[in-house]
Parts: sequence; C-alpha cells; structure tokens
Amino acid sequence: MLPIVECRLCHHRCRLDEGERGQCRVRINLDGKLYSLVYGKPCSVHIDPIEKKPLYHVLPASASFSLATAGCNLRCKFCQNWQISQSPPEETENIELPPESVVQEALRNHCRSIAYTYSDPVIFYEYMLDTAKLAKQNGLINIFRTAAFIEEEPLLELCPFIQTASVDLKGITEEYYEKMCAAKLEPVLQAVKIMHRQGVWVELTNLVVPTWNDKEKDIRDLCLWIKENLGPDVPLHFSRFWPMHQLKSLPPTPEKTLTRAREIGLEEGLHYVYVGNIPEHEGNNTYCPKDGKLLIRRIGYSILENNIIDGQCKFCGTHIPGLWA
Ligand code: SF4
Ligand SMILES: [Zn+2]
Repeated sequence: MLPIVECRLCHHRCRLDEGERGQCRVRINLDGKLYSLVYGKPCSVHIDPIEKKPLYHVLPASASFSLATAGCNLRCKFCQNWQISQSPPEETENIELPPESVVQEALRNHCRSIAYTYSDPVIFYEYMLDTAKLAKQNGLINIFRTAAFIEEEPLLELCPFIQTASVDLKGITEEYYEKMCAAKLEPVLQAVKIMHRQGVWVELTNLVVPTWNDKEKDIRDLCLWIKENLGPDVPLHFSRFWPMHQLKSLPPTPEKTLTRAREIGLEEGLHYVYVGNIPEHEGNNTYCPKDGKLLIRRIGYSILENNIIDGQCKFCGTHIPGLWA
C-alpha cells in the first residue's frame, strides 16, 4: 500500500491518500510523493499599479507584475476571484511561465516588483519561492499578497526573499474565520507577527462585511491587536465589501461604516489607517502622524501629490515608515 502523505504547507495539514488532492485543489499525492500541479502555470497575469495590492507605503505609483495560479486554501464566501481561487487547474486557462520568464517579463515591462496575488500564493509556494529568489537577484521587490494561513517553517524560508506582504486580516474572531473562510485566526496572527519580526514590510487589509465583522467591537479589537503586537506604524486598510460570490444578498459596506472604522483606528493610536474602494474618500490619503499634513493624495490608484522626501514628511521631517526608493 502506498503511504499517506501529509502536506505541511498550511494549517489544514491535509493527509492525502494516493491520487488525492488537498483542500487547495492543486497539491496531490502521486506515488507517495506530494506534487504541485501549478508550478510555472499561472492562470492570471497582469501589470497592476502597486496601490491596487493595496500597498500605500511601497514604491508609490510603480507598476507591479502580478500573477496567480488556480486554487486557494481558504473558502471565503466573499471571494472576488472565486473563478480562479475555487477552481482546480484543469478548469482555468493557464500559460507556461517559469520563474525566469516571470522575472524577464517584469523587467521588460518596467515593473519594480512582482506580486504573488489574486488567489493565495501559499498554494503555489514553490513557484513563488523560486521566482522570488530570482527576482531579488535582479533588483525586483517581491510582494506576498496573502491571507497568511501558512505554517511557520515554510514562512521562515520565504521571508528572506519577500520584502513586503499585503495581508488580509479578515476578522478578529475564530468564529468569523471558521464560518466565513473555513480557516483559523490564530495561525494567521502568528504568521503576521513572524513576518513583521523578520523585517518584512507588512500592510494589513480588513474587508468590512455588513452584519458579519462590522461591529464597533470587532473593529476596535482588530486595531488594538495591531497596535499591541505590531506597533502603530503598520498601515491598516479598511476595504469596502461589494456583493460577490456567496454573499450577493448583502448590501455594499456603507461609507459611514468605513469612515467610523478609520476613526476607531486613529482613536486607538494607529498612525496610518486607510479606506479602500471608495474613491476620493479622505481615507485614501496618507497624512503625517505628527503635524497632520497631507503627504500623499490619491484618487483610486493614482497619485496626485507626494510630499514624502527620502522617507520623511517634507514639512516637519518625521520619518514615514515604508519602502520608498
Ligand atoms: S497547501 Fe493545500 S494540500 Fe497543503 S495543507 Fe494546505 S490545503 Fe492542504
Ligand atoms: Zn509632518
């Protein structure tokens, strides 16, 4: 009898019989060995503004070569990319793009970074890791756009090669993670702390879903966790929910809920709290935490004004953390 194989990449720890796939649909036990079915086979490749990740403190107004494969280790009811994230690779249109070609294409298109994104790159870990190593050698920044549901060992191996992580912190209760995403909160919190400790520049996004995680207590607890565990300088993006996938009957997040969420973040002492998916909201902009002056003015993904010079507020000289050059 061929052995059962345990995948230790994410906290599902799938135990796979011969021929069986993990919950992510892209990792399989063949002849007693674990294989990735998506190495070098992305199904989605685009050039995006880095602001779309969202990353507001990393190379503003630069282009990011962005890619994803099929599959995901979460099952978020609100997923915007469910056509690819909830599909096996046989049901998506894939191209052959080995790590060398990803780096070449990123450079040829004048991108400053490569983003592993759209689905969750944890499930195409080996492809991401090999690409990230090569990208770093070629002077590109690597962006890990993730839900951070990943085991400690592979994460520690990845950290030296990724300079930035845009993490979806989906909620702040185990119940929310279980019911909304079929995942667990605690490993995500641990992974975020590990990346922060390892010197990866982390920005967090919280999608505010009406009736699910929009209570004042949820928002305040989330902000407090960030401040206590990562400090006030880690940017937090509150993002507007749009009816999607399995939550089509819910309304979009009211603007006033997001405005209030931002106020709570600032009340709790976070320095950089943003509102996403509402163009021209003042929460799109970066303000100096010391003198309150406008530093970066954004509309959508465009930068209209940038008053950060050499990582400092041009008016008072306060250091603004991030990767600016
Ligand atoms: S990465 Fe996929 S196969 Fe591995 S434990 Fe997670 S869901 Fe299971
Ligand atoms: Zn200032």
